[in-house]
Amino acid sequence: MGRLYNKAIYNFDEPVKSYWEDISSPDQSNFPTLVGDHECEVAVIGGGFTGISTAYHLAKNYNCDVRLLEAGHMGWASSGRNAGFACIPATKLSINQLFKTYGEDETKLFFKSQIEGVDLLQEIINEHNIDCEQAGSGNYDVAHHPTAVDELKSWGDDLQKHFDIKTKWIQQEEFDEIGHQSTEQFGAIWMEPGFAMNPMAFLSGFANAAHNFGAKLHARSNVIKWEKNEGFHKLITKEGSLKAKKVVMATNGYTDESLHKSFAKRIMPVLSNIIITREMSDEEFDLQNYKTLIPICNSREILYYYRRMPSNRMLFGTRGDTFGDPKSALKMKEYMTKCFRGVFPHWNDIDIEYYWRGTIVYTRDWTPSVGSLEDDPSVYFSYGYSANGNNTTVYCGKKLSELICASNSGEVNLPAIYKGLSPKFPFASMRLWGLRFMLSYYRYFEQNKREL
Ligand SMILES: Cc1cc2nc3c(=O)[nH]c(=O)nc-3n(C[C@H](O)[C@H](O)[C@H](O)COP(=O)(O)OP(=O)(O)OC[C@H]3O[C@@H](n4cnc5c(N)ncnc54)[C@H](O)[C@@H]3O)c2cc1C
Repeated sequence: MGRLYNKAIYNFDEPVKSYWEDISSPDQSNFPTLVGDHECEVAVIGGGFTGISTAYHLAKNYNCDVRLLEAGHMGWASSGRNAGFACIPATKLSINQLFKTYGEDETKLFFKSQIEGVDLLQEIINEHNIDCEQAGSGNYDVAHHPTAVDELKSWGDDLQKHFDIKTKWIQQEEFDEIGHQSTEQFGAIWMEPGFAMNPMAFLSGFANAAHNFGAKLHARSNVIKWEKNEGFHKLITKEGSLKAKKVVMATNGYTDESLHKSFAKRIMPVLSNIIITREMSDEEFDLQNYKTLIPICNSREILYYYRRMPSNRMLFGTRGDTFGDPKSALKMKEYMTKCFRGVFPHWNDIDIEYYWRGTIVYTRDWTPSVGSLEDDPSVYFSYGYSANGNNTTVYCGKKLSELICASNSGEVNLPAIYKGLSPKFPFASMRLWGLRFMLSYYRYFEQNKREL
């Protein structure tokens, strides 16, 4: 089994019809297809934020001979098509669960690293003057139902108490004025780290910066076979091959599980979907009193995430669909339009102009996995950021570059929560059935809560 969903999800030759692709039309002239046989020190598979960050830091900080192979165009997958929230943390585990499993010290290091990721993202944007429509300061979590208020309040208190993260609870009436009104707004917690951006514009700037530091990036170079002979890896694409001493696996939710046996059965890719409205006038935004540009997640189990964009459109996202075929995409778009209008009923007539989707990845231990293989330390990996990859990938790519190049000069400072391969899923061929069951359960649970 190579990949879990319908083949429509993995059509690397076609850009997804996203708003970002439309307005950012990424220039790929620096990223030629790999043609013929080549060699390098480090080969990276995957041209999303993880792979690009690894190549960028290897080239910039270690002058390393690195090449990157991407099946589609740079940023073809989740990195170029996400909602653009820089937010924390990259795990579904609660603070208590993290404390219990990893201890307080490691959990603190994890949260610190998550903020380092946000800062690193900002640093790269500034250093290379990347125009990626940054907007909003911090993030909001909105209580979608009165029963969610206490939990959100204590989440904010815990972030402040344990990790020194600035947070503020905002009552429903105040949020009505500074945030927005909706049928699912009962107060919100604001937290300081984070912002919103156009992920494709950031990715283009980032990939070009890596190129300018000397990394060789190849788009439209799908790795179809991976061989190892006499201490060298050989990655084979349709039109060429790349021999390397070390390989980085940076394919996250698009991993071909038949490419290398160590990466089989370890990820649960989940489809996340986005709709975007037409441009709206200030008067139309006033109908929901929608003021803020700060990105928002709500407290539903299958959460809604949304934001007003600097271009005066609304972006609205949620997870769902466990098939991935074109017919289920149409159903999902309809379902999401209904959800969006349920939350913002005064926008009932606003047209939806874009719909697209991609994968996020959960692991069996619900935390990201970073490191090198025990039985072959020349193979490195980083994956499994839940839905918060934008800051985490950039941080993890930098850490991978340190692991690859600086490990001789001492232990690389990577919090334990990230370390090592995640466990395999039992009954891995049944993963999508497990997901279907979970999604149905949460939808039923949410429906009953609303009827309380
Ligand atoms: C709809 C949506 C909304 C999201 N919103 C947010 C958000 O607001 N904030 C946030 O932090 N995160 C968000 N995420 C998650 C975030 O996008 C990901 O965690 C992150 O982009 C992962 O980056 P990556 O580089 O590891 O993987 P990807 O960006 O998916 O890149 C992996 C790359 O590997 C390539 N590849 C796979 N197999 C091969 C092969 N054999 N040969 C060559 N190349 C190969 C793929 O083509 C792909 O480009 C969202 C995701 C989705 C889908």
